[in-house]
Amino acid sequence: MDIKKFGVIGAGQMGNGIAQVAAMSGLEVIMNDIKDEFVKRGIDTITKNLTRSVEKGKMTSEEKDAVLKRIKTSTDLKDMAAADFVVEAATEKETLKFKIFQDLDAICPSNVILSTNTSSIPIGRIASQTKRPGKVIGMHFMNPVPVMKLVEIIRGIATSDETFKITWDLSLKFGKTPASANDYPGFISNRILLPMINEAIYCLYHGVGAKEDIDTVMKLGMNHPMGPLALADLIGLDTCLAIMETLYNGFNDSKYRPCPLLRKYVEAGWLGKKTGRGFYEYT
Ligand code: NAD
Repeated sequence: MDIKKFGVIGAGQMGNGIAQVAAMSGLEVIMNDIKDEFVKRGIDTITKNLTRSVEKGKMTSEEKDAVLKRIKTSTDLKDMAAADFVVEAATEKETLKFKIFQDLDAICPSNVILSTNTSSIPIGRIASQTKRPGKVIGMHFMNPVPVMKLVEIIRGIATSDETFKITWDLSLKFGKTPASANDYPGFISNRILLPMINEAIYCLYHGVGAKEDIDTVMKLGMNHPMGPLALADLIGLDTCLAIMETLYNGFNDSKYRPCPLLRKYVEAGWLGKKTGRGFYEYT
């Protein structure tokens, strides 16, 4: 299957990163969000990233202009009718993703693969919203997308071998290293990562340590590049809470209960770096 036009739903931190790597690999990209200001913010982030690459001598300014030229923006999901492959990277909310997949299924030709960058929602549940479950798959990029090498590829129960192979090859084309996971809540990455982050939040909640001490222990003691609380801020505390809830509900196991402090921060709108305040403050 010849993929020339790549559709991205959501222009947030993951969506704009995915659009950037797809355009850098030579694909034409349509990046969609619900409001002009959101797609503009996505384009601004991509422009900033590419400008930094030019300054570092990693690309020429002609290459930067060519990458930006390959990215078109949209606020109408119907524009996805032109895409040969779609990745959905909208907010981590099951009902929202269900609606997007129902709409995409009606808009996109039946041979088009509809993938999702969900962090934790079972692929089979998303696929069941469509009439093409064999062509629905998880394509889970890591944050920040232009930097991180991994793409976790998740097969739903009905995902076809052909869909898996096309998605695997596409992640190689993007310069990434794919890893395969089966369809259980949180897959491999967030099944392991998020309980660790949640436990770090419990350490803060129980007064075991200050946020800086918790992060320092994990950075210097376990050789993690970032402390778990700083990482939670980077991921987005709303996304962290959504993943913990998916694990908790999906396994019906109390070991995945989200820390009340995480919930409190999300309810206050302290969502991490993207809102300027999470466990840390960002200016
Ligand atoms: P974000 O909040 O930065 O961006 C989400 C974007 O989706 C927003 O711009 C929002 O306006 C848009 N959106 C909401 N409803 C939409 C709709 N109906 N149509 C089109 N766009 C819509 O969130 P994010 O961190 O980019 O996360 C996006 C997805 O990627 C989630 O599923 C998340 O779980 C997953 N993910 C996140 C990370 C991370 O570290 N943040 C890592 C891997 C995967």
